[in-house]
Amino acid sequence: MKNIFVHRLFVAFWSVFCYTCFSRIKEKGSVTVTEKERAALCVQALKKEYPQALCSLEAETPFRLLVATRLSAQCTDARVNLVTPALFEKYPDASAMSKADVHDVEELIHSCGFFRAKAKDIVEASKKIMSDFSGEVPGTMEELLTLPGVGRKTANLVLGDVFKKPAVVADTHLIRISNLLGFVSSKDPVKVEKRMREVLPPEESNDFCHRAVLHGRAVCVARRPNCAVCCMKKWCSYAQKESDKKDEKN
Ligand code: SF4
Repeated sequence: MKNIFVHRLFVAFWSVFCYTCFSRIKEKGSVTVTEKERAALCVQALKKEYPQALCSLEAETPFRLLVATRLSAQCTDARVNLVTPALFEKYPDASAMSKADVHDVEELIHSCGFFRAKAKDIVEASKKIMSDFSGEVPGTMEELLTLPGVGRKTANLVLGDVFKKPAVVADTHLIRISNLLGFVSSKDPVKVEKRMREVLPPEESNDFCHRAVLHGRAVCVARRPNCAVCCMKKWCSYAQKESDKKDEKN
């Protein structure tokens, strides 16, 4: 009987202790929260700032998103959106694109840059979609990576936006912001993707990447991040370091 009483007392004490610690951790922000908690706080902050987490590429079908993403390499999404209406009017799906003359596709996408490689990839990928996947864009990373011109960035975008699977699109904005936030210390897209998959809530990861693009254009811009107005500054390693430097000077 005495043992049970002691055990219950111990459990009660431990619960209160854990709750108190957790509350303090939350209050202290970036100093003591775990990386997953810190990531969750960043997710919430960006979600509040950018309720819409839409892909800036305009594409109505999985096939069109795949093509638009291939075109977006070394090119702005705005430029791709200017080019794709004429391209898809002539070649609306994988069936039509698989029979396209590559030179004709080159002309249509010329302004996107690297047009020869991109046109070849798009036509070859369409042929493979027709021959190996019954005309449908496949829904796994392994299958997507078998398509010519499709790398992990494109595959992640398709998996997240089309198939609603957890995805991390490691583009230039996500790479920069995740480094500044202090979640990773690498410019390698595969390492950034792997690390962000570890810390981000899986159900939020795809939208977080879309929001990071918006944030990277509006606030956390390359070489001159506007930390003063950033919704994530409380949990950002870079902002913390800059603040510490200022304190040292004063
Ligand atoms: S606090 Fe500054 S460096 Fe950190 S994410 Fe925001 S803008 Fe970027």
